[in-house]
Amino acid sequence: MSLIVAKFGGTSVANPQRIKDVATRLTNYQKDGHQVVAVVSAMGSSTDDLMKLAYSVNEKPPARELDMLLATGEQVSMSVLAMAIEALGVDAVSMTGTQAGIVTTTVFNRAKIAEIKASRIKRELKNGSIVIVAGFQGMTEEGDITTLGRGGSDTTAVAIAAAIGADVCEIYSDVDGVATADPRIVPHAKKLDAISFDEMLELAASGSGILQMRAVEVARNYGVTIHCRSAFTTTPGTFVKEAKSMESAIVSGIACDNSEVKVTIRGVPDQVGIAANVFTAIAEAQISVDMIVQNISEHGMTDISFTCPENDLAKLRPLLDEQIGKLGAREYLVDVTVAKVSVVGAGMKSNPGIAAKMFQVLADNNINIEMISTSAIRVSVVIDSPDAKEAMQKLHTAFGLDSDQVFEETQLTPEELAAKAAKGR
Ligand code: ASP
Ligand code: MG
Repeated sequence: MSLIVAKFGGTSVANPQRIKDVATRLTNYQKDGHQVVAVVSAMGSSTDDLMKLAYSVNEKPPARELDMLLATGEQVSMSVLAMAIEALGVDAVSMTGTQAGIVTTTVFNRAKIAEIKASRIKRELKNGSIVIVAGFQGMTEEGDITTLGRGGSDTTAVAIAAAIGADVCEIYSDVDGVATADPRIVPHAKKLDAISFDEMLELAASGSGILQMRAVEVARNYGVTIHCRSAFTTTPGTFVKEAKSMESAIVSGIACDNSEVKVTIRGVPDQVGIAANVFTAIAEAQISVDMIVQNISEHGMTDISFTCPENDLAKLRPLLDEQIGKLGAREYLVDVTVAKVSVVGAGMKSNPGIAAKMFQVLADNNINIEMISTSAIRVSVVIDSPDAKEAMQKLHTAFGLDSDQVFEETQLTPEELAAKAAKGR
């Protein structure tokens, strides 16, 4: 018997039929003798719809009220799933984050889980029920409802798995698992059977959207094995876990992030404390900066470039206008047509020359590198975004990741895909 936490994303519970399919999967687990806690996201795009609703009445919705509203999305899917399970003759009980004992910090819209008082979940499991917990939400010590930031249900699931000592945390979505690259960009990408926490963290941070980064951090800190898999098939997906093998893949994946912009402050006086001033101001505005490059100075002037999320531009512009005046800098330029392409692999630590090979592949394809950053297991470059697709494909081939099969973007619905997979079995 295993103890399983299974999280279902928005597409997996998007309509009544899919909710019934999830109910069947969960009751099968129980028939096989397992105990299951399901964590659900809101149905389909309902979180986006609730957001729109909020902004239609108030351009700056109060953070507390926004959380009150957004939390209702998951409350719909959890109760409907419980009903679907009961319809199959199996006991189910749904719980809000509050009822599940998920205590968070008081930062509305992006709260962090402080503690899970899991006694109620454990009691219901003991009673033989399938427990369903609303993802993405919790409660402050004061009793206010909070949410964990977009994609937060992944974190709910992993944290519950840690709190109840589950054998595995399954994350169900509409993709087969973690791939060597996004198959919509690199059709020869292939599914990985396993990947280490560290590699997954680098991929998540580099723009691979499959798992929320915080969820991977919690999983690594508590040693929770994650199994990313498709809700529309029974084929195993990708296990994210502690790396055991001595020989790690040199490159296990390539990611692309289009969400950042490059900012260059030109003609900055090259004096002690300038960088400190600029980046302190940016940090105080809660804008996270990724790559930073400072050029060699000429005639006592230098240029500083950095990347940051495009979403923060509205906050950043007035702040830079002010800084330009204060610093006596010439101007600043914003380039929105940039992409960050990253090559990730744990084996890089013991194999020199990965960065050199990456740069050579880009050079051979006439792709100009604008910025570079590295970690022990990652090399990232900023390039022109129109070049990103070609860069991804050429790097994927050069690092030996191509599979023989070609991914086709089909027009099939998940139901049709599942039927096709069932036929092939
Ligand atoms: N429903 C929330 C969102 O759309 C949380 C989640 O799906 O993980 O971001
Ligand atoms: Mg998600």
